[in-house]
Amino acid sequence: MPLHVKILGSNSASFAHNRHHTSQLLQIQDQYFLIDCGEGTQMQFKRYGIKFSKIDHIFISHLHGDHYYGLIGLLSTMHLYGRVKPLILVGPPGLIEIISVQLRYSETHLNFPIEYIEWVPNEYQLIFENEKLTVHTLPLDHRVPCSGYLFKEKPKKRRLNKVFLPDRLPPNEIQLLKNGEDVYDDQGKLRYANAEVTLPPNRQLSYAFCSDTKYKPGLLNWISQTDLLYHEATFMEDMRERAENTFHTTASQAAQLALDAGVGRLLIGHFSTRYKNLDPVLREATSVFKPTSLAVEGQVFTINDHGEHG
Ligand SMILES: [Zn+2]
Ligand SMILES: [Zn+2]
Repeated sequence: MPLHVKILGSNSASFAHNRHHTSQLLQIQDQYFLIDCGEGTQMQFKRYGIKFSKIDHIFISHLHGDHYYGLIGLLSTMHLYGRVKPLILVGPPGLIEIISVQLRYSETHLNFPIEYIEWVPNEYQLIFENEKLTVHTLPLDHRVPCSGYLFKEKPKKRRLNKVFLPDRLPPNEIQLLKNGEDVYDDQGKLRYANAEVTLPPNRQLSYAFCSDTKYKPGLLNWISQTDLLYHEATFMEDMRERAENTFHTTASQAAQLALDAGVGRLLIGHFSTRYKNLDPVLREATSVFKPTSLAVEGQVFTINDHGEHG
């Protein structure tokens, strides 16, 4: 199944030029992950027809308001809509305390449990795992503890080559073949040689989300060969000093990182309000790394099973 990233917001600091604060909806196989939840995120859900009930995991990068001020509103709406199933929330130290205080003083008792997973600042950690994927934290260099996330599918099973197999196979034989084993009949005679009737597994797709950070070449250790990289590009090269002083990255630096990491495609976002027209920002990045796109709200970026971008 393809991997999709839908952009819900990509402006830094304040709402401007019809651009909202950072938020993205990642779909891997049949699972949805909300990454960052800036103010207005639940309005974006409505705008783009996203069901609140789809979201079982929320990942927050850091405690600057433009990345999580929408969270308490979203949680409250989930509660009002009658959610009872648990929600996994991943984020920095302090986040669950802030949410708890907000809920306590509004005397709101959520109908659903929040399972909070707190990461350790400045560490590359396996922070979440289920049967289909792993998520690692990507330690970033920002003014407050900040972490990106690397989502990666687990190894997949072999695919059945229908050309060489009957239409209906018993479930146990399907499992054996998908696991790479040969199938024998009751007499011990080889019925299907795995190599002849199966195809290699689909590629394990990966997505790296790098939120607010100074240019950090050390990220190459972890994001190399990622299918899709989102990286902030708050400023352009002529503002490099400002980018450094405010712990942000320029479009050219983000593109350099993508180039060095050999990623499939780069998405840039977290644009400064000073750029109403984003064409020059994109031009600066593509001059270094051609397969770059702007993280424009409402757009969906897709990678298919072969790692191709659509
Ligand atoms: Zn920010
Ligand atoms: Zn920030």
